[in-house]
Amino acid sequence: MTDMISVAEADAYIAQHMPHLGVIQVSLDHAAGCVLRQPLYAGHDPPPYDRVMRDGIAVRWREPLPRAFVVTGMQMAGMTGLALGENETCIEVATGAVLPQGSDCIIPVEQVRRVGDRYLLGDDCRPVRGQFIHPRGSDCLAGCLLLENGVRLGAPETALLAANGIAQVSVAATPSIAIVSTGDELLPVDAVMLREGSVRRSNDIAIATALRVHGLDHVIREHVADDLAATEAALARLLEAHDVVILSGGVSMGQRDHVPTALTALGVRCVFHRIAQRPGKPMWFGIGPRNQMVFALPGNPVSVLVCAIRYVRPSLLAAQGVMQQLPEQVALADIVGTDDALTRFIPAKLSNDSTGRLLASLVPARTSGDFAALPRTHGVVELPPMGGNLPAGHVVAFHRW
Ligand code: AMP
Ligand code: MG
Repeated sequence: MTDMISVAEADAYIAQHMPHLGVIQVSLDHAAGCVLRQPLYAGHDPPPYDRVMRDGIAVRWREPLPRAFVVTGMQMAGMTGLALGENETCIEVATGAVLPQGSDCIIPVEQVRRVGDRYLLGDDCRPVRGQFIHPRGSDCLAGCLLLENGVRLGAPETALLAANGIAQVSVAATPSIAIVSTGDELLPVDAVMLREGSVRRSNDIAIATALRVHGLDHVIREHVADDLAATEAALARLLEAHDVVILSGGVSMGQRDHVPTALTALGVRCVFHRIAQRPGKPMWFGIGPRNQMVFALPGNPVSVLVCAIRYVRPSLLAAQGVMQQLPEQVALADIVGTDDALTRFIPAKLSNDSTGRLLASLVPARTSGDFAALPRTHGVVELPPMGGNLPAGHVVAFHRW
């Protein structure tokens, strides 16, 4: 037990060794899902002019308001501003047009009727001053911060970049990631028959998927046998070509667990080995000669996924400069026992209670090899090593798959 570090220490060690991944320029067409690496300030007062918000007529408001207006012009979207004439005149306007000078009220087309050269207001039409006008600079003023460095670019963010004239945007480079599964018992996915003692490999694709769904999609997968020379040769080649190497299996105390030995021989410095947690206790983390991050995860399918979502994914997102996000907090649906020495990660299903609060109902895996029930869960709760029970309603951290 004594050589194990705590979950919090593992977080701190990884954070200390985080390399800076670069910044690249991409066009907006290639920016979806990327991490913004520049702030965006408003280039003008949005909207840049008093903007008409309905098709209809623009009038000068006063009390009492005339019930008929003579049309003197037409102000469509994209035209430069017209000026409204005398009282009891109006200008036909379209949504998106500049508000005609001298007008301060838009009456929608549905509330008026055209008769000859005049518009008559409907009987229950009661306009108020300023209605259906989006005033210049009312969203914010030029120079205001619209997007913070580190946000992920979704539809609203790319819309703001476009509206402010940013055709090429600075985003985080995506690290090049190699995932290596180890194990003589593992067959390719397309193996038709399972010979005795074998299973199909699933951890490498599971890790890749956990990363890809968060935009970390420069991923290749390989497999090596439980052989020291083969492991060393494969890792030497992969460490040359990738920023991050993630291993599955071969990191425990077995006679054929060659991963730590091979990594050390290749000059990868061990930062820690073993975390006081279940599952995932044997996790190994080190830094390669070119600052490559190396995560060697225990091979049991639940362990590997817990370590991937709890340590690997958040640290790679942080290296990309993603704005720090605190883990989600959820309430336990039932009383739960904790361990006094190990942090426990237990698969759980989320639901809402009557007040809308998120509740986690635990669906414990029988062993760290049992992953059949995971698709019916949303992630894992993190139970600190306190000893004793946590009552129903107690709030704990939650990590989604
Ligand atoms: P290890 O950490 O190498 O001792 O592996 C622990 C358990 O996880 C063994 O039962 C392995 O068969 C299983 N395992 C290891 N790697 C994979 C993988 N890529 N896919 C599925 N199961 C795996
Ligand atoms: Mg193995």
